[in-house]
Amino acid sequence: MLPVRVLGAHEPQNVSEPHIFGMFCPFCRDSLAQGLLGRFDYAEGVTLTQSCIQYRQTFGSWRLHVPTVKWDYYSPMPNDVQSPHARKAHRAEIQRFREFLEQLTGQKLTNEKLDAAIALVNENRRLLHAIYEYRKEANPKVTGVEALYAALTAQFIDKAEHNAELKKVLAALPARKMAREEGIRFMTIGSENDDVAFMAMVESVGSTIVIDDQCSGTRYFWNESKPDADPIKAIAERYCDRPACPTKDYPNHTRFDHVLNLAKDYKAQAAVFLQQKFCDPHEGDYPDLKRHLEAAGIPTLFLEFDITSPIEPFRIRIEAFLETLREDDLF
Ligand code: SF4
Repeated sequence: MLPVRVLGAHEPQNVSEPHIFGMFCPFCRDSLAQGLLGRFDYAEGVTLTQSCIQYRQTFGSWRLHVPTVKWDYYSPMPNDVQSPHARKAHRAEIQRFREFLEQLTGQKLTNEKLDAAIALVNENRRLLHAIYEYRKEANPKVTGVEALYAALTAQFIDKAEHNAELKKVLAALPARKMAREEGIRFMTIGSENDDVAFMAMVESVGSTIVIDDQCSGTRYFWNESKPDADPIKAIAERYCDRPACPTKDYPNHTRFDHVLNLAKDYKAQAAVFLQQKFCDPHEGDYPDLKRHLEAAGIPTLFLEFDITSPIEPFRIRIEAFLETLREDDLF
């Protein structure tokens, strides 16, 4: 089986509103539209692990209304991952998913097969880390757009093939010469982001995106499954230990220091919040996280995204932000 992630297409669409509200986040509406428009008709089944309520309802519509879906599976996950019961509960859910897949495929998912798969995916995470490591350098040999492609393609391609491609990139990087100005070093913060046109625009006006805290970027691959005699426990615990997203980061806000440490490690000079319109979890975190970064000397900019967002108003906002940073003699 080849898992692929459902993403949007950033195109105008008029098919999702009979199924989910127009005030659901653009990522939800765009993802559902892609299913309804048949863009994932090569996928036989659809699965979701609990994140936010909006995406849960998007998943409900996918499984009811996307005609090519032959099977579906919803995996509950404790949003309160800080509870002492979370790990045990999530291990039980992953075990249930294992049994579902065994029934679906008629194949036994043995511990040996799971150990081999964990090793392959962990290798992918290490290789992505090695590529991201280059972003710490002055005028990095990997741009933000390239890093985004590396993380996104991992979510679609067979992991063994992806690992082979990442190794080729890593072999070529030491000799690479960059013919572009570094400009100001940005961090991006938010939820899902596959907006390559936006990222390319940001990097074309005098900046380099050096790190992110996004579910389609670092949060996807940042931590590994730790070796364990029980591979189901190893998989479940990795999810509980991931750098948290706002839906799973209470009562303690562990992500605020994690985001700040990323900014420091990658020498980000400013941060841009990429906010999906109507995304309550990220909007709830925003004021405190902004204060946390600014108190540590990292200025921030807030941008709100819809399914289609014309690039020019964003260009003006980014250019104005860069000008302010330079005028304030911050850099
Ligand atoms: S967390 Fe936010 S961006 Fe992600 S699906 Fe939920 S509402 Fe949308």
